[in-house]
Order: sequence, then C-alpha cells, then structure tokens
Amino acid sequence: MSVQKDVILPGATLGVMGGGQLGRMFVHAAQSMGYRTAVLDADATSPAGLVSHAHIQTPYLDAAGLAELARVADAVTTEFENVPAAALTQLAQSRPVAPSGEAVSVCQDRAREKAHFVACGVDCAPHALIDTPEQLAAVGDDLLPGILKTARLGYDGKGQVRVKTRAELIAAWDELGRVGCVLEKMLPLAYEVSVIVARGRDGQVVHFPLQQNLHRDGILAVTTVPAPNVTDAVSQQAYASAHQIAASLNYVGVLCIEFFVLTDGRIVANEMAPRPHNSGHHTIDACDVSQFELQVRAMTGLPLVAPVLHSPCLMLNLLGDLWFPDGVAEQVEPDWAAVLALSGTHLHLYGKTEARRARKMGHLTVTGATPEAAREVALKAAAILGIAPF
Ligand code: ATP
Ligand code: MG
Repeated sequence: MSVQKDVILPGATLGVMGGGQLGRMFVHAAQSMGYRTAVLDADATSPAGLVSHAHIQTPYLDAAGLAELARVADAVTTEFENVPAAALTQLAQSRPVAPSGEAVSVCQDRAREKAHFVACGVDCAPHALIDTPEQLAAVGDDLLPGILKTARLGYDGKGQVRVKTRAELIAAWDELGRVGCVLEKMLPLAYEVSVIVARGRDGQVVHFPLQQNLHRDGILAVTTVPAPNVTDAVSQQAYASAHQIAASLNYVGVLCIEFFVLTDGRIVANEMAPRPHNSGHHTIDACDVSQFELQVRAMTGLPLVAPVLHSPCLMLNLLGDLWFPDGVAEQVEPDWAAVLALSGTHLHLYGKTEARRARKMGHLTVTGATPEAAREVALKAAAILGIAPF
C-alpha cells in the first residue's frame, strides 16, 4: 500500500483532547513511534498530562487553550467522548481532527446513537425517548421493566436507574433531574461483547477480535479474548455491524461498539464510544498492534493493518476499591509484587495517586499460551488483589 501524500510523519506533534488514562496510553503509543504529544486537560495531575511533552491546562472550550493546541499540534484526536463537539469543530478549522466533532456528537447522545444504529440496519434495545412529561406518560407497558438512562453524559452505569413499574419510572425521571432520557427495555442478556474498529481517512476499516465483557455494578470488570461464548455467526454479525456503523459515520479513528447477546441468541447494539475503549486495553500486550497505535495511525494517515491477537488473554480492571481491603479506612497499596510473580501478568497503572471506590486506577492484562492457562493465572491474580472470581 502506498503512503498517502498528506501523511503526518513521526517528529510531528499529536494533540489529544482529554487527559485521562485513554489519553495516557495514546501518548505512550504516539511517543514510542517518535511523535511529540500535547494534551489539553484542565487537571494539572491528569494521567496523560503527566507523561506528555506539552500539557495545556485549560477547560475544553477555553479559546486560548484551543488556540494553543491548534498552534502546537499537527493533528488532534480525543480520548473522552464528552469533549464538547464544538471544541473539535473549532480545532478542525485549522488542523486535521479525527474523529470529527459531528461523529463524536452522535455518540454523545443515546437517542442519536440509537437512531444511527437503526439507520444502519443494526438492532438495538426497544426504547422510548423521554424529554417531556407527556412522553413519560405515553411510555408503553412493554418497555417495563426497563432502565432509564440519561441521554447525555452517562458512563460506568452513572445516570441510570432500573425501574420495574410506572411509579418507579416517574420517580426515576425526577431523580435524574427530568433531563432528556432514554428508557430501554430490560433485556435477558446471555453475555456482552464489544468490537473495536479503526477506520482510516481512505475508508479502510480494520477490527480487533471480538471481546467478551463482564460488567459488575455497571462497570467493566473483566474482558476475555478470544470471547469464550461467542459463535462464529455472532462474531461475523458484530464485525459487519461495526464496519457499517463506522463507514456510515464517515468515521476516522478508533471506534468501539458494545453489543448484548441475548439468551435467544440475538445480538443487539448497546452503545458506542468514539475513541479507544476499556475493553481494548489488552491489545497493548496481547495483539501485534494496539488500539492506541491504530488511533495514531488513523489520525496521521499512516496505513492501518488488521490486528492479530498473538496471545489469549484476560484484562482485569483495577478499581480504587482494591486499595481499601476489608473495610480498611486508609489507602493500602495492593501487593503488586505477588501479582507480578505470576508469569504472563502485565501491570498498567494510570498515575492516579488518590484511590476512590469505583475509580479506574489501572488494569492488569494476563496473557497465556492457551485461554485456560491465561484464565488460571488471572484467577490467581484476582484472588491476590481481592477481585471476586469470575
Ligand atoms: P459505559 O461505561 O460502558 O459507558 P454506561 O454507563 O454508558 O457504561 P451502559 O453501557 O448503557 O452504561 O450500561 C451498563 C451495563 O448495564 C451494560 O453493560 C449492561 O450490563 C447493563 N445494561 C444496560 N442496558 C441494559 C438493558 N437494556 N438490558 C439489560 N442490561 C442492560
Ligand atoms: Mg457501556
């Protein structure tokens, strides 16, 4: 494949909106390929800001901050889906921005996201939009029991209330501040999977092997690859849906789509994220190219390659809860030495000094010669860390 003429080569500076752990791992990938980096995030101790060449410490919509990012960066991406689309659109006036503000804005709103799935011929959960008391009253009984989710700004199960009855639904909408919501029918899940794709400026799309994801309390806990329960038919359908969704957004960059596989075998799209995803962190250690490297390649116009999983693996999220074993009030560092004594463990900590319950502090990837071997070591690591067996 010939390299495009307008490719942004190593030595240039890549900018990222947002300074969280996804930005940090993007910065690591960009730097290892010889790029300089610039992070825009107001937090002086943000995980990505701590490791970047430049850190612009302003809010996302700060005019001076955006002007500075456009001045120092040759191209810009985002690591956080709630970066205001207007900031990306403004940056795009002077620099290549991938993904575009328009594509990100679709992912920021559950109602638009679901409409996009439907337009692509991809099934999603039966749902109703609730913006007004009239729409609330008109909700059909067939959507109960359901989950009321805020249309915007939800993550890790925040902004969601499970409701069984109409009275609970009314109370839940009050609890969520009567903001725009989507009520989704509660579906019987057999298991959950996700697909991460990268799409280049030339329209080429590549995908990672499907991930199987276990959530606890609405937060991703464990990712297993290859996905143990998935049939060939399910994975082919998920890949085809993901390619279609990315292409019809004219997407450039890394995009993750989460799917539910139902007890009757049907597959429905849950939501998408316009950036690398927590369920793709294993790609750093278990694939020949990581989701973060593909983010770099897509935004710079470098060739994409179909990623290959070279090791079966599991990824365990390391939440702040692990720093407070057995109700201990003071923060205690987990026993990393014991975990690292197990072969095939790869520890990633995000540089966050303060552990809080449910806060993503890091992740542990466990690779093995076989899925069974990886699982056995992952269970040992989990026992050491105080993560419940899976
Ligand atoms: P994320 O951190 O992935 O952005 P989120 O807060 O946006 O999470 P969702 O992905 O919508 O939340 O839901 C979190 C979890 O709740 C899902 O992974 C799934 O386990 C469960 N869930 C959500 N919607 C449904 C549904 N309609 N039926 C059954 N379970 C659901
Ligand atoms: Mg989700």
